[in-house]
Amino acid sequence: MIRFENVSVTYDGADEATVRDVELAIPEGELVLLVGPSGVGKSTLLGTVSGLVPHFTGGTLRGRVTVDGRDTRTHKPRELADLVGTVGQDPLAHFVTDTVEDELAYGMESLGLAPAVMRRRVEETLDLLGLAELRDRPIATLSGGQQQRVAIGSVLTPHPKVLVLDEPTSALDPAAAEDVLSVLQRLVHDLGTTVLLAEHRLERVVQYADQVVLLPSPGAPPMMGTPADIMKV
Ligand code: ADP
Ligand code: ADP
Repeated sequence: MIRFENVSVTYDGADEATVRDVELAIPEGELVLLVGPSGVGKSTLLGTVSGLVPHFTGGTLRGRVTVDGRDTRTHKPRELADLVGTVGQDPLAHFVTDTVEDELAYGMESLGLAPAVMRRRVEETLDLLGLAELRDRPIATLSGGQQQRVAIGSVLTPHPKVLVLDEPTSALDPAAAEDVLSVLQRLVHDLGTTVLLAEHRLERVVQYADQVVLLPSPGAPPMMGTPADIMKV
C-alpha cells in the first residue's frame, strides 16, 4: 500500500540527510505506529507520504514513495486528497470553516462529487466519528478531542485509502486520546483504511497498533515488527 524505496530526505542547508535509505512496505488495512525520539525524522517520513515533503518544506527527496502505486512526488498534496488524508498535532491549524458540518464538507470540494453524494458522506462521517450532535457547533467551541475528531473527519470524507497522522493525541488528555485512537482503530477494522501514525510516546499508542516501525536514531534504518517484537528492543 505505502512503499518507501531507498528514500532519503535532505533539507536545504543541512549537511546530512534527515532520513537515509529508508526501505519499508506498509501493508494495507493496518494501523502502523511510527515511533522514535523527537527529531529522528518521523514527521519528515510522514510528509513524504502526504506530499508535503518536499513540495512545501523544500529540500531534496531521493528514492520513491508510492501510495497505491501513485508516486507522491509527482502529485501535489491537494491532488492526493482521495488517496491520503493528513492530520497534524494541532487541529486548530487544520480548520478552514466555522462549523463541524461545513468542515466535513470542505475536504470534498475539489473532487467534483454530486451534492447528494457529498451530503451522504458528511452524514456517514458524522455518525462514524460520533459527531452527529455537534454538527452545527462552531468548531472553536469544541474540546480538543472533539476538534481532533473533526479534523480526522474532514480528511475522511474524500474516502482516502491512507490516513497519516502526526502525533494526533499530543495535545489531548488521556481520555480524549483514547477516544481518538479507538476511532482510528474502527476505521482500520470497519473500512480497511491504512493508518500511519507517528508518536514519540510508545506506551500511549502501542496497544492500538498492528505493526510498529521504530526509527532508533537519525539516519539509522527503521525496524519494523509487531508491538511485542518492538517492545523487546
Ligand atoms: P520528528 O518528527 O521525529 O520529531 P522531524 O522530521 O520533525 O522529526 O525532524 C527531523 C529533523 O529535520 C530535525 O532536525 C528538524 O529540525 C529537521 N527539519 C524538519 N523539517 C525541516 C524543514 N522544513 N527544513 C529544515 N529542517 C527541517
Ligand atoms: P459514495 O459516497 O461513493 O457515493 P457511499 O457513501 O455509499 O458511496 O459509500 C461507499 C462505501 O464507502 C460504503 O461501503 C462505505 O461504507 C464506504 N466508506 C464510508 N466511509 C469511508 C471512508 N472514510 N473511507 C473509505 N470508505 C468509506
